[in-house]
Amino acid sequence: MTAIVVLGSTNMDLVAYVVRAPLRGETVTGREFRTVPGGKGANQAVAAARAGGNVAMIGAVGSDAFGRHLRHTLEASGVDTDLLHTADGPSGTAHIVVDDEGGNAIVVVPGANGTVTALGPGDETLIATADTLLLQLELPLSVVVEGAAAARRHGVRTVLTPAPARALPPELLAATDLLVPNEHEATLLTGLTDPEAAAGALLAQVPEVVVTLGARGTLYANRDGARIHVPAPRVTAVDTTAAGDTFTGALAVALGEGRPVEQALRWASCAAALGVRREGASTSMPYRPEIDAEYA
Ligand code: ADP
Repeated sequence: MTAIVVLGSTNMDLVAYVVRAPLRGETVTGREFRTVPGGKGANQAVAAARAGGNVAMIGAVGSDAFGRHLRHTLEASGVDTDLLHTADGPSGTAHIVVDDEGGNAIVVVPGANGTVTALGPGDETLIATADTLLLQLELPLSVVVEGAAAARRHGVRTVLTPAPARALPPELLAATDLLVPNEHEATLLTGLTDPEAAAGALLAQVPEVVVTLGARGTLYANRDGARIHVPAPRVTAVDTTAAGDTFTGALAVALGEGRPVEQALRWASCAAALGVRREGASTSMPYRPEIDAEYA
């Protein structure tokens, strides 16, 4: 089994569904409330484990009930949490208001994620055993840079999801093998709205790029001049939350197994499409047999 380490965030998403979001100073009555285990790191870990990877997660949950729930969610999908610390204090939370038009407003409070500023004992040793290290930008940048550099030292492939979008330090880009922005992030990083042009510009900084294009699929580009567009399977989208994380987790598994890039992209697109057909973020992520059946 391909070994994947995720260095990333865990958040409890606290979601209120409303007709319309309140204005400043206003109170509105919501229709429904849900708690959904999330965080981009945890989502990618669950996606990769369900897709058949041997996955371990480095990061932190809080010492509250959310932290126990988040850890349990990871373990229930088979993620090794030995190096997922419990930090004294609250877990990371995302406070999300979703209105009837599907628009949302989000406040993220990093909580325990903010305590993960540097690699801890055992982290580099674990990273060294992996085929792939998955990184996002919901932990302090210092540890993301340190993790990428550690992976690079040990010849471990690094896959970076540049979200939430922000300027990336040169030392992080220098230690990134594959960058996986969505269309919006690719534009923010390059100033270019055309995905193909943005991917081309990003190749000046990293050797391989996949731009995810929502219902339009994915675009892969590398420095050898390869350009592969894989359309997304046509599905009725019910909930596209964490589609990108499902895609990236599955892609890491497929690439780690040595599948050719186009096959890996198609297989990961099947995983993401299965996820968006169902309600829930990490809870709706598909298991390997379902992905294989969709791919066949
Ligand atoms: P993110 O969730 O990071 O914003 P995208 O919206 O680009 O990323 O979605 C990631 C991937 O998930 C897409 O490249 C595609 O494979 C799949 N996907 C997303 N939305 C849909 C959809 N409506 N139908 C089919 N596949 C989708």
